[in-house]
Amino acid sequence: MTRIERIRTVLAGGVPDRIPVMIHNFLMAAREEGVTMAEYRSSADVIAKTLIDACVRYDTDGILLDVDTALLASACGADVTYPDDIAAVTNDKQSRSIEQIIDDLAKVDLRNSDRVKIYLEAINKMSVWCNANDVFLRANADQGPFSLGCLLVGMNDFLVSLLDEDEEENLMALMEQTLRIALQMHHLCFEAGGHMTSYGNSSEGCSVVSPAIFRKFGKPFETRLNQQLKKEGIPTLCHICGWSDPILEDLAETGCPMFEFDARTDIRKAREAGRGHYVLSGNLDPAMLNSAGPDEVKKAVMELLDLFRGQGGLMIGPGCALGPNTPGENIRTLVETTKQFG
Ligand SMILES: [Zn+2]
Repeated sequence: MTRIERIRTVLAGGVPDRIPVMIHNFLMAAREEGVTMAEYRSSADVIAKTLIDACVRYDTDGILLDVDTALLASACGADVTYPDDIAAVTNDKQSRSIEQIIDDLAKVDLRNSDRVKIYLEAINKMSVWCNANDVFLRANADQGPFSLGCLLVGMNDFLVSLLDEDEEENLMALMEQTLRIALQMHHLCFEAGGHMTSYGNSSEGCSVVSPAIFRKFGKPFETRLNQQLKKEGIPTLCHICGWSDPILEDLAETGCPMFEFDARTDIRKAREAGRGHYVLSGNLDPAMLNSAGPDEVKKAVMELLDLFRGQGGLMIGPGCALGPNTPGENIRTLVETTKQFG
């Protein structure tokens, strides 16, 4: 089986020759490449070289392209901070009201954003290399509708407005716009050459909001996103940080074909809820991969492989982004253990 076939087989619900491995490693890859986050985020050539070099170094089945969590928010006019050596972040306190944001969003076309242009150029360059070298390219389409709304309004104000009945109409109008923008990003990433897209809807997980809030403001828009992507033949993955156990059945109903859960989510429960609906990516703990020794890493990898070996349903990797100082030896252990025992 080729590497691209291996991941496509898992995505399609089949059983691959072994469990494929992909790592969420842009921070670590930039550190190893000796480039700052400022250099990384502002050049398609640097992004492509950094991630390709890391893929060659660790010999993974796929590459996850990611730059930060503020790509769409910045294209939508949010206040964003661009530190030199850590990933860009949206400011928690935003200067626009929800009404202003909704008005502004109606005019947003991602193709006019310089940051999105660099990003799409990076996908393009990487897809040429990936197709020539049999590597699967997951082009992250940044935030899902709920998380993009959260970043645009600012986390604290957003969480307060979710509990305010008078804001409901505004929030629904906001989500209509963030859904439209998220969809455009998936189209652009797929057209630029990604084999699949992915998105983060981290703030809809149970570590941040209640299942009731997720069902009201997150799930309907995520379901529409996935219905549209499915109709267009664009495979995708949803990443959720933290704990998601109470909403696993709901997530199955969104129609998203693959979920990436953090280590806090029970992978056995996630697999049961997903049967016939979705497959999984993850869910090794990035903190463990950062601080444990290779023996402990191998043990954790073996435990996860034991659950899925010969059955399909898993692409193994960290459940969230790896820290910049994650020891390379641990990633080599993850990949080699998977190749030997997956
Ligand atoms: Zn995460």
